Amino acid sequence: NQNINVALIGNPNVGKTSVFNHLTGLNQHVGNYPGITVEKKVGFCKLPGHNHANIVDLPGTYSLNASSIDENVVVELLLNKNDKLFPDVAVVVTDVENLKRNLLLFTQIKDLQIPTILVINMADRMDRKGISLDIAHLEDKLNTKIALVSSRKGTGIDTLKQLIADYKLLSTQPCVDTSSIDPAYFDQLRQAFPNQDVYKLWLVIGQDVNFGHLERHQIPNAFTKSVAELKRLQQKETIKRYQFINDTLKVGQKIDASKATSLGGKLDRILTHKVWGYVIFAAILLLIFQS
Ligand code: GDP
Ligand code: MG
Repeated sequence: NQNINVALIGNPNVGKTSVFNHLTGLNQHVGNYPGITVEKKVGFCKLPGHNHANIVDLPGTYSLNASSIDENVVVELLLNKNDKLFPDVAVVVTDVENLKRNLLLFTQIKDLQIPTILVINMADRMDRKGISLDIAHLEDKLNTKIALVSSRKGTGIDTLKQLIADYKLLSTQPCVDTSSIDPAYFDQLRQAFPNQDVYKLWLVIGQDVNFGHLERHQIPNAFTKSVAELKRLQQKETIKRYQFINDTLKVGQKIDASKATSLGGKLDRILTHKVWGYVIFAAILLLIFQS
């Protein structure tokens, strides 16, 4: 009967706060522009069985190669095992319409070897966009459990709660072999820090963050790199990750634009058609000349 920590992580605008509100019964402000959640918010969730969870809503972040203060909040929490909110399970929230981009962050979190659940949110938009998913394939390739959620309709939340309750069954295997971005360098890192996860080390070296017992200044000069070199390696890492994601989605996701024929899809396309601009313009002209 213990409180576990659950961190909600994801790109801006994917529905993290909406999922947070469902899990906690709270009513945090939801918005359709980024930057609403600027610091961590904590809520409480009763799980199936006897467990409870602290749910931590985090600012939106595109990757763990932090460049903004918002993103640093996420990196510092994930790299600091001593933080009292350090997650027992990371829930990465994604938007079904932007899976490819959203999965970049998922693969990075997965590679920190924290138990991770993937929420694919906005499931209510799949029909109108002609998107179908092979969940079993995605779970297999990404080495994770998936909850297909619509926080708009409130579906999939019970599945998510059950997955959180069963977090001990989640795999902590990484999904991308990061050491291949510079094998010699990562080998040296591994030898110098036999008890550390090299991907964590790599994140600490790549930016100014501390993680608990291992502070950045403890890393010998031999391992520091020029900013240009770090940027080059980060780019290589991103390319590797997108290769993996593309391969995974090639089988796991089908987007059939011709199937996007539901009323919603038609309405969407009709309402956003640029011809409306001209029609309204003409109507205004007509009104002016008639009066
Ligand atoms: P956050 O930035 O990740 O915290 O995202 P929010 O929870 O603030 O939601 C961003 C926008 O997406 C808001 O306009 C929500 O109403 C909308 N949204 C969230 N979940 C869903 C969903 O399941 N379906 C649809 N259609 N829209 C959603
Ligand atoms: Mg938010």
